[in-house]
Amino acid sequence: MGGLRYSGLSDKAPGTMDGENVIGWKVNGQNYSAWTSWRAGRSGQALEADVTLYTNIFNSYRVRGIDTQLELRKSIIHELGHVLGLTHSDQMGDAMMVKVRTRPEWRLPSDNDISRCRALYSE
Ligand SMILES: [Zn+2]
Repeated sequence: MGGLRYSGLSDKAPGTMDGENVIGWKVNGQNYSAWTSWRAGRSGQALEADVTLYTNIFNSYRVRGIDTQLELRKSIIHELGHVLGLTHSDQMGDAMMVKVRTRPEWRLPSDNDISRCRALYSE
């Protein structure tokens, strides 16, 4: 794996598989705070991924008195798991569980998240 490296700002919109990995904002989220569009090889290793963050969902968190920075952090950790090729988990406490928003302790990848990621990239 070549690793992840920040390459600077882009004016490209997230969500298109165009050869560039983009993290960006869109306004009109329906049910999710964020969404990752990704392609993976047969072994599950990530080939390309874009993360879309939805401003209207985060605005609704703020209006409802939910800690928006914490939710953004949890969403990004979860979506970066997808960027690395991880699928959802049904294990409570995993960053890759679908309902990450409801538990404040789900801030960092769990041991299970990390070992699943290592399994994808072990040689
Ligand atoms: Zn997800």
